[in-house]
Amino acid sequence: MKYISTRGQAPELTFEEAMLTGLARDGGLYVPAEIPQMGREEIAALGGLSYEETAFRVMRPFLGDCFTDEEFHGIISRAYADFDHAARAPLKQLAPNHFLLELFHGPTLAFKDFAMQLIGQLFQVALERRGERVTIAGATSGDTGSAAMEAFRGLSNVDVFILYPHGRVSEVQRRQMTTPADKNVHALALDGDFDDCQARVKDMFNDFDFRDGVKLAGVNSINIARVLAQVVYYFSSAVSLGAPAREVSFTVPTGNFGDIFAGYIAQQMGLPIKDLVVATNQNDILHRCLKGEGYHKGATVPSISPSMDIQVSSNFERALYFAYDKDAGAVAQLMDELKSGGFEVSQGAMQALSQTYKSGRASEAETMATIKSEGVATGELLCPHGAVGVKVANELRESSVPMITLATAHPAKFPAAVEEASGIYPSLPERMADLYDRDERVSQIANDLGAIEDHIRKNIAQ
Ligand SMILES: *Cc1c(COP(=O)(O)O)cnc(C)c1O
Repeated sequence: MKYISTRGQAPELTFEEAMLTGLARDGGLYVPAEIPQMGREEIAALGGLSYEETAFRVMRPFLGDCFTDEEFHGIISRAYADFDHAARAPLKQLAPNHFLLELFHGPTLAFKDFAMQLIGQLFQVALERRGERVTIAGATSGDTGSAAMEAFRGLSNVDVFILYPHGRVSEVQRRQMTTPADKNVHALALDGDFDDCQARVKDMFNDFDFRDGVKLAGVNSINIARVLAQVVYYFSSAVSLGAPAREVSFTVPTGNFGDIFAGYIAQQMGLPIKDLVVATNQNDILHRCLKGEGYHKGATVPSISPSMDIQVSSNFERALYFAYDKDAGAVAQLMDELKSGGFEVSQGAMQALSQTYKSGRASEAETMATIKSEGVATGELLCPHGAVGVKVANELRESSVPMITLATAHPAKFPAAVEEASGIYPSLPERMADLYDRDERVSQIANDLGAIEDHIRKNIAQ
């Protein structure tokens, strides 16, 4: 199993190499050269299995011979041991043929734990075998950072530096990043927005002296191992509702396009998914692009669903790569045009995109109204991201096809917005009830590549 770059100018890598590398050296993103297939019988055989066993069967073909079956079983079981729900990703019913996939039962209360906990264990096994040490740098709009710190804290062969936009994450998100006491995890509050954070991380990866000097590795959603870990819950939930005999659709609150792209991979592997619906908040660049208006950057407007406040949606490059029929040259050119503001999608690629994805958006008022109305109708308290998904799903779903909407975070991660919308204050699960009392540790830093690199060099444990 080989991994190739969406821009066609980086070496082919194994799964393990692609995972440890993150961003390809040509600036592109790694994708599997071939997407493995699962037949109907293999999919049907997932019925009734644990989440862990489902993860093993769905992900195994992507790993090649990088990990033994025994290693991979151990990795998976350690990764999901700290989740506080036996099903890991339970389904709840909202309405006839509308289901909520609760992805917030991991240690940091957001879906990113599914991939990050797994990648932490994969890194640990791979680095120990290689006798290597790496520095992980990541940008976060709130949830990736805490999930990464939680997954890697205390591991002996990794330092983690997370850039988040100063003042633009919720208090719970910030505290989850600033309160881990482990010396190998570091929170950096950048003077800028999420796109600045993401751009500085990309700059670090493109500074090869720095990259090689500190052995930089990335665990942002561009990391292919993360995307693949997310393919699993598309299978587990669809099979619970009758796949492969019955088709299902998914609605995914989307920012960086990692989660929804995992759904595309599941579909390409053979899972019968009818619609993949992209749900955006008022930062609706993806929705506008999928409507055929081209991809043109504007200003990011802060919203109550901050993990989707985005203009540069990194993983969309992977979707473009497949929509352009694996034409890496065309993708490289689009990404070049994006540097100066945006690009138009060719007619053929647009056709491919609209065959795969539907889309919708939710304004702030619609998001609030959905939190309130779902609370009243079902007793389910949605976080603002999940509410964006439910609003768009209700617009686009067909009554004859089960719709699964992804609930990407626990409402207690965004208590102010949830309380304002519903009148109910969502409390934190017991295991993190003392979060507001823990000491914080954070460095505020300028939106300046040199300053960030200096800080990292000085703070790596030797
Ligand atoms: C990261 C995140 C998203 C967006 O996911 P992408 O994979 O970036 O599209 C949505 N909701 C929450 C709560 C998140 O943390």
